[in-house]
Amino acid sequence: MSPRLEPAAKVAPALREALERLAHEHCALVFDFDGTLAAITSRPAAAELDAPTRAALRLLTPRYPCALLSGRARRDVARRVRGIGFRAVIGSHGLDDGRRAPDPAVRKWVRRLRSRLAGLGGVQVEDKRYSLSVHFRAAQRPALARRRALEAIARLDGAHVVAGKRVLNVLPRQRRDKADALRELLEGWQIQRALFIGDDATDEAAFAVRGVLGIRVGRSLRGSAARFVVARSDVRGLIDLLVELRSAASMPATARARRPSPVDRGEHVLDFLRQLWAVDHALQRRSKQMLRERGVTGPQRLALRLLLLEPGISAGELAGAMHVHPSTLTGVLERLERRRLVRRRARPGDLRSVELHATPAGAAIVRETRGTVEDAVRRSLARHTQRELDVARDVLRELEQELLGE
Ligand SMILES: [Mg+2]
Repeated sequence: MSPRLEPAAKVAPALREALERLAHEHCALVFDFDGTLAAITSRPAAAELDAPTRAALRLLTPRYPCALLSGRARRDVARRVRGIGFRAVIGSHGLDDGRRAPDPAVRKWVRRLRSRLAGLGGVQVEDKRYSLSVHFRAAQRPALARRRALEAIARLDGAHVVAGKRVLNVLPRQRRDKADALRELLEGWQIQRALFIGDDATDEAAFAVRGVLGIRVGRSLRGSAARFVVARSDVRGLIDLLVELRSAASMPATARARRPSPVDRGEHVLDFLRQLWAVDHALQRRSKQMLRERGVTGPQRLALRLLLLEPGISAGELAGAMHVHPSTLTGVLERLERRRLVRRRARPGDLRSVELHATPAGAAIVRETRGTVEDAVRRSLARHTQRELDVARDVLRELEQELLGE
């Protein structure tokens, strides 16, 4: 008999069943940050993902569309999860999705609260632009500090308080909350089912969103709209389990070749297409960033790299290797020649034919890989098995041929 494997997480059978159903569905996974993915610390600035959680999330994000929905400022939390592959990061309890302008009143409130609470040791007023937080995690007298803060907040015009764990969140009244942001996110992604995991009072509205399976991180479900509760220490195991269930769900599904319903197929087409455009956009953006920082674009660097691999090939051969039209390559080569990164030479014995070579300066640019498109691709590929990469490449190649009408 083969030895039994340890279960990935201490998960109640009913929760495991619900997650298994989700793993077979087109669904999104949405996470809160503090107290859910990261432990609460005495200084908010110190809250970070531990390495095992980061590694587990990196396996999760290629398998499900994942988003982060946090009370922190969007930039702050985005920095903490950089490189993991979240498709969306929404901050300030749903107010800051990167498209909306902040309420100018918040800045005034920050100034006023800082001056009124200045004498209280260990209290911190955090300006999140779209909202603010008064933190008591390190307060010397938390109860007194909280009372004073509530008194001061009551005098702010148009402010609304949501109490959290050792924190008071102050948001503009008639605000959007996490539920509004979650609904909008799912609508934009055209997804009807989602898992939302959070630990705090500000997460409650999102647990109640239609189509959402709510999991509360904590000790009990008392007073919560969530369906399940897990301990903070089991969150990473839960992520591992989601990865495991998704992998198990997709493999037999291929073998059985279950035909998706027309509705499913429509969703998948749109979702895939959106992802392709998102990749196209990200490629252009990284390429422009490379031009600013290193003086070459993504395609220019790719041309140099191919010339180093095959010195002396012709412009036509290079265009073929790069899958671009020769006229597109002409512009790329002209710019590289002007900067003396590439030179042309008549092919020995055939004066009509010209061969291309990268110069030593061109070779130096190729050696520097940090921040390049190639570097991003390499890191992304390293997270997958050879089998997964083969499937992805086949899908992209087939799509290319369909588009070309071959
Ligand atoms: Mg939280």
